[in-house]
Amino acid sequence: MSSESNRVLAGECECGLVRYSVEDAFLYAANCHCSRCRAATGSAFKPFAGIEREKLEVTDGLDSLLVFGEEDLNNTRCGACGSLLFSVVRDGAYVHVAMGSLVDAPSIRPTEHIFVGSKAPWFEITDGLPSEFGFAAAVHPHDRDTFYVIPLDPGHARCMPEGQAAVWRTRDGGEKWEKLTRGLPQQHAHLGVLRAAMTIDRHDTPGLYFGTSTGQLFASADEGDNWTEIADHLPPIWSVEVATVD
Ligand SMILES: [Zn+2]
Ligand SMILES: [Zn+2]
Repeated sequence: MSSESNRVLAGECECGLVRYSVEDAFLYAANCHCSRCRAATGSAFKPFAGIEREKLEVTDGLDSLLVFGEEDLNNTRCGACGSLLFSVVRDGAYVHVAMGSLVDAPSIRPTEHIFVGSKAPWFEITDGLPSEFGFAAAVHPHDRDTFYVIPLDPGHARCMPEGQAAVWRTRDGGEKWEKLTRGLPQQHAHLGVLRAAMTIDRHDTPGLYFGTSTGQLFASADEGDNWTEIADHLPPIWSVEVATVD
């Protein structure tokens, strides 16, 4: 799949015991301000870059790793010095490389701040990257009391726990809300959804669609009760539009 011209980047921990190589073919990169990433790095935020797991190889110190979590979902550190090297995420299919552990400069740059609702109060974002998350919304085409929002930002009301993707639905103009999660990732789903990245079509039973800043596209054919991932590996999705073909 990947082109043979891909550079390979080196990364290592603070003490040098663990080294890894990774293709310079990252799919997305962001600065995560969630409380877990801040604690994991001891920093204001974690710059990370995502790539398919098989494109990263631990070249030194494989038996010295400190794996916090499970095989398919973890933070991987050096067992000697504790440096966070990468996280295994998304059912083990991807790794999020802690960009601070890269020795060589990657081509990609972080394109956004995510989980800014959990941001450290003593840190101010001044770099101008987008950080507007959690307000994607769609209105039912035939029932104006029914609408959908994606509050992905844990700093706001009606938030979901960190790392769980959900769409919220009201059928009574916002009095009561239902959390819709069936088919959506429920662990370490570091998904950002931008304002324009959810839409709804005009069928009698309308279809809903939203895209994420990490390049996944989800759809529901039953007004949000069930979701399926219909595309992955896309570039960051800034907006989703739908066209109905009769
Ligand atoms: Zn080390
Ligand atoms: Zn995070």
